[in-house]
Amino acid sequence: MPLSISSICRNITPSTTLRLNALVAEKRKQGLDVISLAAGEPDFDTPEHIKQAAREAIDKGYTKYTASSGLPELRRALSEHIRSTKGLSYQPGEIIVGTGAKQVILGALIALLEPGDEVLLPTPCWLSYPEMVRMAGGVPVLVPTTLEQGFMPDLSQLEAAVTPRTRAIVINTPNNPTGAVWDMRAMEAVAQCAKDHDLFILSDEIYEMLVFGGGSHIPMASLSEDAYARTVTISGMSKTYAMTGWRIGYAAGPKPLIDAMDAYQSHATGNPNTIAQHAALAAVTASQQCVADMAQAFESRCQAVQELLRQVPGITVAPPLGAFYVMVNIEALLGKRFRGQMIETDGQFAELLLEHALVSAVPGEPFFAPGCLRLSYAINEKRLAEAVRRIKAFVEELI
Ligand code: PMP
Ligand code: GLU
Repeated sequence: MPLSISSICRNITPSTTLRLNALVAEKRKQGLDVISLAAGEPDFDTPEHIKQAAREAIDKGYTKYTASSGLPELRRALSEHIRSTKGLSYQPGEIIVGTGAKQVILGALIALLEPGDEVLLPTPCWLSYPEMVRMAGGVPVLVPTTLEQGFMPDLSQLEAAVTPRTRAIVINTPNNPTGAVWDMRAMEAVAQCAKDHDLFILSDEIYEMLVFGGGSHIPMASLSEDAYARTVTISGMSKTYAMTGWRIGYAAGPKPLIDAMDAYQSHATGNPNTIAQHAALAAVTASQQCVADMAQAFESRCQAVQELLRQVPGITVAPPLGAFYVMVNIEALLGKRFRGQMIETDGQFAELLLEHALVSAVPGEPFFAPGCLRLSYAINEKRLAEAVRRIKAFVEELI
């Protein structure tokens, strides 16, 4: 009997980033010395005191279900954490803990959207947003931005994309994949557009602690009372505490939305992993020195990767201000050949680079940045230098 798959799932493009991670792992198993600039995760191990809290949680028997929205003590701790890091006040009941920011974003979209509702996505953007919007029954509407604009939309661009069906906008600063950190002007444009057209704002601030060069992160909900009331802020443990595998994210926003997300989550997954929640509790309540130390390491790598990439002919670098990604434009290299093979797209470039130079990079196309590559510099500086040396040798072979 032919198996018929639902239209929602038939139309999902599987995550390119996760596919590449798996491909790299496979090649390494074969003994190949692949350097991955594809992984969107810190290379640091989870700090010891956080791991210790998880061990203790197991020993103490914290191995049962919790409330679906998360441990009350973790929601209280997050309320305090958000107050101290962003100056924003949320009651524990206005916060939900979920299985990674990824699940929380999907939950928020499911709680917000009616079928056919449009969601504005300034691009380049994280490749999961459009898929998630579709999975929640919505329609992604792209708002392209350019390097010249610092990858930040202005008010007229946002206004031009609004229709009577527009329901929400998703923003992400510091940004994956561009490394842009949005300035006040861009944030105000979003707040203004949302107010004028009664839109909801989903502000993905998962890279909030990684801002370089003396810049600062502007939390969307801090802009005004109106922005606060129409924003759900998303963050999580993955990037701040090097805890990608633990799968703990959270959202803070208006209580009716958080309650709706909880109702959904209570049937979809139930509570996020109990042991990981205890680890997250330790992460946000202990000294934040580990966060500062990791951010400093990323900042120095950010400088290093830009200097290294300047030596590679034919590429232009979009100077990153935060997160741990740098986007490079390789358009000048498309149309050239590598050992007889024509390279027409960033996807083909990335494939050949992995195959022949053993460096993995994510093509820009799934992030709506065709002609570009996204390089993650979440690896140590020695390996980073070796990766760029391999990229340079690869590029020098192109004719
Ligand atoms: N948002 C952005 C922009 C990301 O890059 C990621 C990384 N996967 C996430 C959300 C989700 O993070 P996690 O599910 O690991 O909390
Ligand atoms: N957000 C990371 C990335 O963009 C992790 C992988 C994923 O979840 O997509 O690479």
